[in-house]
Amino acid sequence: MIERAQVFDPLWSRPAVPRDVERALTGRRIEALRRRGKYLIADLDGQCHLVMHLRMTGNLLWVPPGEDREPRPHLSVRLALDDGHRLLFVDQRRFGTGVVIEGTEQLGEYLDQRVGPEPLAPEFTPDVLARAARGRRAPVKAFLLDQRRVAGVGNIYADEALFRAGIHPLRPAGRLRRAEIERLHAGIVETLERGIDRQGASIDDYRDSNGERGSMQDEFLIHLRADQPCIRCGRPVTKMVAAGRGTYVCRRCQPVPRPRRRRTEAP
Ligand SMILES: [Zn+2]
Repeated sequence: MIERAQVFDPLWSRPAVPRDVERALTGRRIEALRRRGKYLIADLDGQCHLVMHLRMTGNLLWVPPGEDREPRPHLSVRLALDDGHRLLFVDQRRFGTGVVIEGTEQLGEYLDQRVGPEPLAPEFTPDVLARAARGRRAPVKAFLLDQRRVAGVGNIYADEALFRAGIHPLRPAGRLRRAEIERLHAGIVETLERGIDRQGASIDDYRDSNGERGSMQDEFLIHLRADQPCIRCGRPVTKMVAAGRGTYVCRRCQPVPRPRRRRTEAP
């Protein structure tokens, strides 16, 4: 049970004011903690839900009773439970958010508008990916980062999945051939499974709920490897911008899309 809720950062709860969020949470029992896409959801009693997003530098820490591990300067939220545990939302750059949603149906609507299929669910097949990509002119990297198309794939994992699949990030999503869709599907699943196995990538801020660093950053196949030799072909890795994000690509293993030729010349 949440004995005391404190929201220190009004940006976290915006547009709701901290006091209203504190009032909505206090006295509620946490029935489950789960994830949907990049959203972390605490199901509370009375069909109330706290939906959080870590964004760039947010971390959720689970602190056992008696332990004094509170990084004060970046503490956005503290939920003190009646058994002595504390759930802390810590966020250096303060892009993380929390919203209280009353009603399980309302929660479903909120998530359906924002989150596409879960790539690690058995329902996520190459067919599902092909359907999501159909008719999309967006570059495949932007397509992967759009959480409404595929849930949970971020910048690092998009680069890694595209490298595994041998697909250039600027290829239009809707023009991928069936074999490429199948390779991309496998690339997404393998990359996410590897990331979970390595407890995430801690390039700077990410920590797991016990405050531990992940080790995925030690195993990047392409991400952050600019000018180093490609692990497959040895050619130097190129850094470029795609979907507004720093993107790493091997131009031999991930061939650059050719512009469609205009038929102006006579045969
Ligand atoms: Zn290569």
